[in-house]
Amino acid sequence: MGLLRNSLCAMALFAASAGNAATLLEPTLHLKPQGVEGGGRVALTLDACGGTTDTRILSALVDNRIPATIFVTGIWLKRNADAVEIMRAHPDLFELENHGGRHVPAVDTPRKIFGIRSAGSPDAVQAEVESGAAALAGAGGPAAKWFRGATAEYSPSAIAMIRRLGFKIAGFSVNGDGGSLLGAKETARRIGAAKDGDVIIAHINQPTHAAGEGVVQGLLALKQKGMTFVRLDDAEGVGNDGTTD
Ligand SMILES: [Zn+2]
Repeated sequence: MGLLRNSLCAMALFAASAGNAATLLEPTLHLKPQGVEGGGRVALTLDACGGTTDTRILSALVDNRIPATIFVTGIWLKRNADAVEIMRAHPDLFELENHGGRHVPAVDTPRKIFGIRSAGSPDAVQAEVESGAAALAGAGGPAAKWFRGATAEYSPSAIAMIRRLGFKIAGFSVNGDGGSLLGAKETARRIGAAKDGDVIIAHINQPTHAAGEGVVQGLLALKQKGMTFVRLDDAEGVGNDGTTD
């Protein structure tokens, strides 16, 4: 009996701490499986959080005609006009979507996620989403339909708000480059192993990181295998945690 009581206490303690800290969600996103026809299809999503442009990746996408969905922030848009011009010149390849105005996580309570301070309030989450959409609209091109927050983690109430603002939320199923911190070999291995229906996430804003070289290698390996690349606006992405339904 003493043992049972102790374990119940432990569970209650766990539940209490989970209520405070463990409520962040990292949603997944998959494409509907293609079925028997074809060699499979994947969606490549690349985040442009801030900083500059990895032209190794951008050139490889253009040269090999690989379509991609690029999640851009207002900060990145302002500083990367040349890259934006290249993307806009290939509307068949590039879909630009909303990665927020200032790259602050869409979490409506104050905390840090991977060292980045969260938006911290519902108003601040709304401002991050709307300023990202406004920056994209200001750069020309179609209105954004998808949102991915900085760090790709969300509080459940922030997910509900972003959906009310009219955006689907882009999770992923393959973490291709570990926040651009993985080596080239491991990045190439992860991306090259993507299966039919996967949504890959990697970064296009870290030109000095080894991961970018791995992104290119992994994508070329997938293309070699006969994999088809689609953008989020061409596929029916299905996410969990209420992110797409
Ligand atoms: Zn980011």
